[in-house]
Amino acid sequence: MTFSPTRFLVGLAIVLVGCGPAESETASAEEVSIPADQRIRTADPYARGYTDEDFPRIQELAPGVYSYEQLRSAGEEKFTTVSLFVVTGEGVIVADGQGSVEETARMIERIGGITDEPIRTVVVASDHGDHTAGNSAFSADVAFLAHPTSARALESMAGVPKATELVPDRKVIQMGDKEVHVLFLGRAHTGGDLVVYLPQEKVMFMSEAYLHRVFPAMRSAFPSEWVQMIETAQAMDVDVFVPGHGFVDHPSILAEELEVYQGAIRVVILEARRLYEDGFGLEEAQQMALFGDLDSWSLRSSQGDRAIQQVYAEIDGELPPVTR
Ligand SMILES: [Zn+2]
Repeated sequence: MTFSPTRFLVGLAIVLVGCGPAESETASAEEVSIPADQRIRTADPYARGYTDEDFPRIQELAPGVYSYEQLRSAGEEKFTTVSLFVVTGEGVIVADGQGSVEETARMIERIGGITDEPIRTVVVASDHGDHTAGNSAFSADVAFLAHPTSARALESMAGVPKATELVPDRKVIQMGDKEVHVLFLGRAHTGGDLVVYLPQEKVMFMSEAYLHRVFPAMRSAFPSEWVQMIETAQAMDVDVFVPGHGFVDHPSILAEELEVYQGAIRVVILEARRLYEDGFGLEEAQQMALFGDLDSWSLRSSQGDRAIQQVYAEIDGELPPVTR
């Protein structure tokens, strides 16, 4: 068969018509609305072209609702720890602190650059040190809300303020013109995981239940329940899912990546189960585990073994029972 330029061009035209003008317009509009730097899906600031001076970074996600991202080092790697704050008109509600008194003080100072209102409430959405170790920087009259499981964890942490109010299931805060729901949607990363949900603004701060492009860290996790918990969150009326680590990107990316993240937890569970069912002991399984695409994620090298261990513990029924 000889090459026919005419047939080739006709073929090309059909392909182009097939794309349709309406479709390509939608596609390009979508591309324009997503900043170029966010096209690289990663938690690594340098892969994104960011520098240390780009942080802390504050973004207004909805009127009066802000994310706060500051870089932290984890071994050789750096990624962001994310807090949320809500300026209500009658005070500020903060979800999660930062990892040291110095960093939380810096955040308080930056919040002070945006509003004169005092911080009244701090929600301990994750009790882990990188979100609580700086909590003594908050003024002494602040209310600290935590799930009972996290409240117990805080009691054993030296120099960290204790919970002043427990939220086992749900608390609705009406402050100023904001309605803020503090919710326990199930055990996930810590067992005392809370989310902060603004139904009017459709923003949900997921804390460490959502690690955006950071390998599922499972040291105190409930792997299968975590998958369920994300599904519960996804079923709610939310436009912006805010992660506890990793970048606060365009809302459409954050929703897509939450699904990717849930898939990542599933990959870890399935791989550990496969190795368990094939009869491999923990150490062998840790050496053999294959995580595919997750190999490029932040913390892969430090968290992979621990995740396999946690899924093994779950299969063996060794994780703590549900407590109140
Ligand atoms: Zn954590």
